[in-house]
Amino acid sequence: MVTTNLMQPVLLGNTGISVSPLCFGTLPFSPLQAYTGEPDAAGEVLARAFALGVSFIDTAQLYNNYAALKAGLSRADRNITVASKTYAYTREAAVAAVEEARYGLARDVIDIFLLHEQESEHTLRGHGEALEALYGLKAKGAVRAVGLSTHHVAGVRAAVDAGLDVVHPLLNIEGLGIADGSREDMEEAVAAAMGAGLGVYVMKALGGGHLFRQAREALGYARQWGHSVALGMRDTAEVEAAVGFFKTGDLPPLTGHKTRSLHIADWCTGCGRCAEACGSGALEIVNGAARLKNAGCSLLCGYCGAACPDFCIKVI
Ligand code: SF4
Ligand code: SF4
Repeated sequence: MVTTNLMQPVLLGNTGISVSPLCFGTLPFSPLQAYTGEPDAAGEVLARAFALGVSFIDTAQLYNNYAALKAGLSRADRNITVASKTYAYTREAAVAAVEEARYGLARDVIDIFLLHEQESEHTLRGHGEALEALYGLKAKGAVRAVGLSTHHVAGVRAAVDAGLDVVHPLLNIEGLGIADGSREDMEEAVAAAMGAGLGVYVMKALGGGHLFRQAREALGYARQWGHSVALGMRDTAEVEAAVGFFKTGDLPPLTGHKTRSLHIADWCTGCGRCAEACGSGALEIVNGAARLKNAGCSLLCGYCGAACPDFCIKVI
């Protein structure tokens, strides 16, 4: 299943879209991850990645970081493929999400637009109107490929069954965060998606940071799956290390890495919205307050924080 071991651009399945095997995952430049830097600072990190050959970035409406990405894209010396995502259910919301991305990123075309965090054929059916709208925008040329992102094996299978263009599944060497099966189940579904011609780029190769101590092994595993690997990178040192790994297989010690964790403030009201938003089922409400279940959080995505009306949750 190895597709490439260099930074040479590859075709993303049958989409006709060219991407670098390393995709810049931009969640670290989001308020969800307590990012407080200036757009220009994020733009500098992105520009360094582009200069080193990264030509693919992944974001989402939820990440609220288009300004930072625009700063980076304006400094790119090559065409950069951009993927974004939306939770939209309705036609109007899907169209608005694409327009927000086009305006926010100052681009006429958003290369890839995904329905965010789909679980199965059932949730995809529930987003049918939004999906239809995305394909309508594709027909008009505002979007080049349509797909979904998922932490679920059933989500990947739904993308294949629905004949989508792209799927963005969670896959890592320990199977951390796969919501409905084992690593092997996800591998099987990803292989089927690639066999069906979908463009595939995997996420959470380092398990939200939990696999950092075995980064070389974990990246080596992820690199074998899909056409590209989306990796969150916070500074130029991480960019240079990741690009170096994709070019040579060597990974220098990443001494600057800080262990992150999820923090819940004591003014939590226990409303439960964070627990509902967590696709991993990692949160529960006990005695009127949110807390992590005993198994903890394996992803540190910060999506629960976005759902909190009182800004109680941060991944720091
Ligand atoms: S608890 Fe929060 S950070 Fe952890 S997986 Fe759930 S939504 Fe993501
Ligand atoms: S959404 Fe915020 S206020 Fe509500 S239970 Fe979760 S942390 Fe507490």
